[in-house]
Amino acid sequence: MINRERLVKTFTDLVQIDSPSGEEEAMAEELTRRLEGFGLTVRRDSYGNVIATDGRPDPLLLSAHMDTVEPGRGVKPSVDGDRIVSDGTTILGGDCKCGVSAILEALESVYEDGLTPHTGIEVAFTREEEIGLVGARNLDFSMLTAKEAIVFDGEGSAAQITSSSPTYIGFDIEITGRAAHAGVEPEKGLSAIRIAAELITRLPQGRLDEETTFNIGNIEGGTVRNAVAETTIINGEFRSRNIETLDNIRVQISEALDEVREMFPEAILDDHLHTEFETYTLSDDDPATNRVVGALRGLGLEPIFSPSGGGTDGNVFRLRGMSAVVVGMADHGMHTVREYVVIPELVDTAHLCEALLRERE
Ligand SMILES: [Zn+2]
Repeated sequence: MINRERLVKTFTDLVQIDSPSGEEEAMAEELTRRLEGFGLTVRRDSYGNVIATDGRPDPLLLSAHMDTVEPGRGVKPSVDGDRIVSDGTTILGGDCKCGVSAILEALESVYEDGLTPHTGIEVAFTREEEIGLVGARNLDFSMLTAKEAIVFDGEGSAAQITSSSPTYIGFDIEITGRAAHAGVEPEKGLSAIRIAAELITRLPQGRLDEETTFNIGNIEGGTVRNAVAETTIINGEFRSRNIETLDNIRVQISEALDEVREMFPEAILDDHLHTEFETYTLSDDDPATNRVVGALRGLGLEPIFSPSGGGTDGNVFRLRGMSAVVVGMADHGMHTVREYVVIPELVDTAHLCEALLRERE
């Protein structure tokens, strides 16, 4: 049986293990210990992701990530009625330790009752999700056989299913002009900052339409006040669920670059675009989605489908041909010091996970 008290304890214990992206070792060791306690075979892939299996055929993959964002060190959780909060100086770490805790509680519940789950089980706890799905992208998929994955990494209640996620393209533009003394001979210089300004005013910004956003998040340029800036680097990103729109933005960037190159023929503008993750939209016949919908309804919860502007390991699993669905894990205000977890929702998430293991038509 799902045990609220045990679940809350697992959660508060796990959030007190620091695991900022890249420093997941203590967390990985603790999770390995717990998974082995259930009798699962636990291995680490070469990237350090934790992968567990019960060895049975045709398993369902349960997944969450081990890392958290900053400020996430020395988290002091406290229970306040039906909520769990941090002391306000750090995040709580519910993203994604709610997901991890719900999976562990579901496994605990199934195994303590001596039940043979109706489905084989695989578990993947990944590293470095928060810095660009890096762990999932480096995951050794040869160690997994599941065709369906449930990713416990969504905001809000367990009934919240992420219906779609955009393609995310990052870009870096490096501009090289020519340095010169700003007071003595500025004519000899070619300001990379000035060129960057010309470029940026030709690029879109903010929300472009319901499914598309564009952002320049960082500019670095120049060295000192009294020198014409020789280099400037621009980092940005754009996201859309519409492939055509993405292509149009690519063209827009390239036209803007061409125009600016024409204005400043002596400057060098180097651009680099990289796809961080690819869009998906759940279809009506998606197997993992149907499985979750059935389990939710069995618990008396009505699924709520909403699009997300972000990506999760689910994007990577989908790219790998798995039917992956992202569900809510009771976390709210993710990535802020005001983050909180609603305990009854966390219990529901554990119930959902348990139902997925017990039921299979
Ligand atoms: Zn997350």
